[in-house]
Amino acid sequence: MSDCVFCRIVAGQIPSTRVYEDEEVLGFMDIGHVNPGHVLVAVKKHAENLYALEEPQAAAVARASVRIARAIREAFSPAGLSVYQANGKPAGQTVFHYHLHLVPRHEGDGMQLTWPVKNPPREKLEEYAARIVERLQAARPQG
Ligand code: 5GP
Ligand code: ZN
Repeated sequence: MSDCVFCRIVAGQIPSTRVYEDEEVLGFMDIGHVNPGHVLVAVKKHAENLYALEEPQAAAVARASVRIARAIREAFSPAGLSVYQANGKPAGQTVFHYHLHLVPRHEGDGMQLTWPVKNPPREKLEEYAARIVERLQAARPQG
Protein backbone atom coordinates (compact mmCIF):
# COMPACT_ATOMS: atom_id res chain seq x y z
CA MET A 1 0.00 0.00 0.00
CA SER A 2 0.89 3.68 -0.19
CA ASP A 3 3.67 4.95 2.02
CA CYS A 4 2.06 8.41 2.03
CA VAL A 5 1.00 9.14 5.60
CA PHE A 6 -2.04 11.22 4.62
CA CYS A 7 -3.23 8.60 2.09
CA ARG A 8 -3.06 6.13 4.94
CA ILE A 9 -5.05 8.46 7.18
CA VAL A 10 -7.68 8.91 4.45
CA ALA A 11 -7.88 5.12 4.06
CA GLY A 12 -8.25 4.67 7.82
CA GLN A 13 -5.07 2.61 8.00
CA ILE A 14 -3.61 4.83 10.68
CA PRO A 15 -5.63 6.66 13.30
CA SER A 16 -6.64 10.31 13.04
CA THR A 17 -9.03 12.60 14.86
CA ARG A 18 -11.44 13.72 12.18
CA VAL A 19 -13.59 16.84 12.22
CA TYR A 20 -14.88 17.04 8.62
CA GLU A 21 -15.42 14.84 5.60
CA ASP A 22 -16.96 15.20 2.16
CA GLU A 23 -16.32 13.51 -1.20
CA GLU A 24 -13.06 15.33 -1.87
CA VAL A 25 -11.77 16.51 1.49
CA LEU A 26 -10.84 15.26 4.94
CA GLY A 27 -10.35 17.63 7.90
CA PHE A 28 -8.46 16.26 10.91
CA MET A 29 -6.51 17.48 13.92
CA ASP A 30 -2.82 18.20 13.33
CA ILE A 31 -0.85 15.88 15.59
CA GLY A 32 1.78 18.62 16.10
CA HIS A 33 -0.92 21.08 17.26
CA VAL A 34 0.46 24.62 17.42
CA ASN A 35 -2.64 25.91 19.26
CA PRO A 36 -5.88 24.20 20.38
CA GLY A 37 -8.14 23.74 17.36
CA HIS A 38 -5.34 23.40 14.77
CA VAL A 39 -6.87 21.50 11.85
CA LEU A 40 -5.44 20.12 8.59
CA VAL A 41 -7.64 20.26 5.50
CA ALA A 42 -6.39 17.62 3.07
CA VAL A 43 -7.57 16.27 -0.27
CA LYS A 44 -8.64 12.64 -0.17
CA LYS A 45 -7.22 11.71 -3.58
CA HIS A 46 -3.45 12.00 -3.48
CA ALA A 47 -2.02 15.20 -4.98
CA GLU A 48 1.48 16.18 -3.98
CA ASN A 49 0.95 19.92 -3.79
CA LEU A 50 -1.04 22.93 -5.02
CA TYR A 51 0.22 22.51 -8.59
CA ALA A 52 -1.17 18.99 -8.76
CA LEU A 53 -4.69 19.80 -7.57
CA GLU A 54 -7.61 19.27 -9.91
CA GLU A 55 -9.94 22.28 -9.91
CA PRO A 56 -12.86 20.44 -8.22
CA GLN A 57 -10.46 19.46 -5.43
CA ALA A 58 -9.33 23.08 -5.09
CA ALA A 59 -12.93 24.27 -4.89
CA ALA A 60 -13.77 21.61 -2.32
CA VAL A 61 -10.77 22.57 -0.16
CA ALA A 62 -11.83 26.23 -0.22
CA ARG A 63 -15.42 25.39 0.72
CA ALA A 64 -14.40 23.03 3.51
CA SER A 65 -11.84 25.51 4.86
CA VAL A 66 -14.47 28.22 5.25
CA ARG A 67 -16.81 25.85 7.05
CA ILE A 68 -14.15 24.48 9.38
CA ALA A 69 -12.69 27.94 10.07
CA ARG A 70 -16.10 29.20 11.21
CA ALA A 71 -16.51 26.16 13.47
CA ILE A 72 -13.05 26.75 14.98
CA ARG A 73 -13.94 30.40 15.61
CA GLU A 74 -17.13 29.39 17.43
CA ALA A 75 -15.44 26.62 19.40
CA PHE A 76 -12.25 28.42 20.51
CA SER A 77 -12.85 32.17 20.00
CA PRO A 78 -9.25 32.73 18.85
CA ALA A 79 -8.04 36.29 18.42
CA GLY A 80 -7.01 35.38 14.87
CA LEU A 81 -6.62 32.49 12.45
CA SER A 82 -3.71 31.76 10.12
CA VAL A 83 -4.09 29.75 6.92
CA TYR A 84 -0.77 28.14 6.10
CA GLN A 85 -0.02 25.97 3.09
CA ALA A 86 3.46 24.84 1.99
CA ASN A 87 4.56 23.53 -1.42
CA GLY A 88 8.02 22.01 -1.61
CA LYS A 89 10.72 21.55 0.98
CA PRO A 90 12.09 25.11 0.85
CA ALA A 91 8.57 26.36 1.56
CA GLY A 92 8.38 24.15 4.64
CA GLN A 93 6.35 21.24 3.30
CA THR A 94 7.04 18.07 5.26
CA VAL A 95 4.13 15.87 4.16
CA PHE A 96 3.95 15.69 0.38
CA HIS A 97 0.21 15.24 0.10
CA TYR A 98 -1.71 18.49 -0.39
CA HIS A 99 -3.11 20.01 2.79
CA LEU A 100 -3.56 23.40 4.38
CA HIS A 101 -3.38 24.36 8.02
CA LEU A 102 -6.05 26.29 9.89
CA VAL A 103 -4.25 27.58 12.97
CA PRO A 104 -6.13 29.50 15.66
CA ARG A 105 -3.95 32.44 16.75
CA HIS A 106 -3.41 34.35 19.98
CA GLU A 107 -1.22 37.32 20.87
CA GLY A 108 2.30 36.11 21.70
CA ASP A 109 1.63 32.48 20.77
CA GLY A 110 5.16 32.15 19.35
CA MET A 111 4.17 31.25 15.81
CA GLN A 112 6.34 33.22 13.43
CA LEU A 113 6.79 33.63 9.71
CA THR A 114 9.74 35.80 8.71
CA TRP A 115 8.67 38.01 5.84
CA PRO A 116 11.68 39.83 4.39
CA VAL A 117 10.01 42.55 2.28
CA LYS A 118 12.02 43.88 -0.65
CA ASN A 119 9.75 46.67 -1.94
CA PRO A 120 11.06 46.56 -5.53
CA PRO A 121 10.30 49.47 -7.87
CA ARG A 122 7.00 49.48 -9.79
CA GLU A 123 8.77 48.54 -13.06
CA LYS A 124 9.99 45.33 -11.46
CA LEU A 125 6.47 44.47 -10.32
CA GLU A 126 5.20 45.12 -13.85
CA GLU A 127 7.90 42.85 -15.26
CA TYR A 128 7.13 40.03 -12.82
CA ALA A 129 3.40 40.41 -13.44
CA ALA A 130 3.84 40.22 -17.22
CA ARG A 131 5.61 36.88 -16.87
CA ILE A 132 2.70 35.45 -14.89
CA VAL A 133 -0.03 36.96 -17.07
CA GLU A 134 1.59 35.53 -20.21
CA ARG A 135 1.38 32.02 -18.76
CA LEU A 136 -2.16 32.52 -17.50
CA GLN A 137 -3.27 33.58 -20.96
CA ALA A 138 -1.55 30.59 -22.55
CA ALA A 139 -3.28 28.29 -20.05
CA ARG A 140 -6.77 29.82 -20.46
CA PRO A 141 -9.37 27.14 -21.22
CA GLN A 142 -10.54 27.20 -24.87
CA GLY A 143 -14.10 27.84 -25.99
P1 5GP B 1 3.54 20.68 6.44
O1 5GP B 1 4.81 21.20 7.02
O2 5GP B 1 3.78 19.63 5.39
O3 5GP B 1 2.60 21.75 6.03
O4 5GP B 1 2.82 20.02 7.70
C1 5GP B 1 2.59 18.68 7.89
C2 5GP B 1 1.82 18.56 9.19
O5 5GP B 1 1.34 17.24 9.30
C3 5GP B 1 2.64 18.86 10.46
O6 5GP B 1 2.10 19.98 11.11
C4 5GP B 1 2.50 17.58 11.28
O7 5GP B 1 2.29 17.85 12.65
C5 5GP B 1 1.31 16.89 10.65
N1 5GP B 1 1.40 15.45 10.69
C6 5GP B 1 2.43 14.67 10.28
N2 5GP B 1 2.13 13.37 10.46
C7 5GP B 1 0.87 13.33 10.96
C8 5GP B 1 0.02 12.25 11.36
O8 5GP B 1 0.36 11.07 11.27
N3 5GP B 1 -1.19 12.59 11.85
C9 5GP B 1 -1.60 13.89 11.95
N4 5GP B 1 -2.82 14.13 12.45
N5 5GP B 1 -0.83 14.92 11.60
C10 5GP B 1 0.40 14.64 11.11
ZN1 ZN C 1 -1.05 10.81 -0.25
